[in-house]
Amino acid sequence: MVFAQEPEETEDWSRKPTMVLPGLNGQPPSDAIVLFDGSDLEEWTGGKGPETWKLIDGAMEVIPGNGSLTTKRTFGNVQLHIEWKTPYEITGDGQDRGNSGIYLMSFYEVQVLDSWDNETYYNGMAGAIYKQHIPLVNASLPPSQWQTYDIIFTAPEFDENKKLVSPAYFTVIHNGVLIHNHVEVRGPTLNVGETEYEYHDPKMPIFLQDHGNKVRYRNIWIREF
Ligand code: MG
Repeated sequence: MVFAQEPEETEDWSRKPTMVLPGLNGQPPSDAIVLFDGSDLEEWTGGKGPETWKLIDGAMEVIPGNGSLTTKRTFGNVQLHIEWKTPYEITGDGQDRGNSGIYLMSFYEVQVLDSWDNETYYNGMAGAIYKQHIPLVNASLPPSQWQTYDIIFTAPEFDENKKLVSPAYFTVIHNGVLIHNHVEVRGPTLNVGETEYEYHDPKMPIFLQDHGNKVRYRNIWIREF
């Protein structure tokens, strides 16, 4: 049976979206938390110190062997903008060329690697959800050029018994090109073996990897949702 309805019956007035001033040219939107703008490492902790990572030309650079950095703040569901570049000087190949990584919640890695002219296993190349998902395409730029990731990350959910209710998901845009569309994460991104979820807090730090290569990062901002 079909009932005649008024248009108003399907209108939703329950939540008025907050106004956000969009950022232009990679600048943060008005409601973003700026994690790094080139001036200091106040939002970050880790490394062996006293110098954690090197501040250079508005960027921060891995000091090989000095350790990885994590945010002081913790996050769950996020939109993360981050810019990175691998060293001009090409040394090594495969996983030893411009390797770093952006770990959402400290467990789930989007790989950073020089994948311009550098063959490696495809679930370990630039943009891979490490050892879990091959990027849809290779949108890499040559080494020493700035590249962007825009990452939409949905945090996993656990119930009161610390059992997994809903897995994590990634959508990733590399240099403006979609490379993952809401792919399901199977657990922490391990280098060896099959992975499995283990309970962790609903909010965790973001982790930037020291993999022994002088990778730089700049213009890092994040929005929670
Ligand atoms: Mg890595």
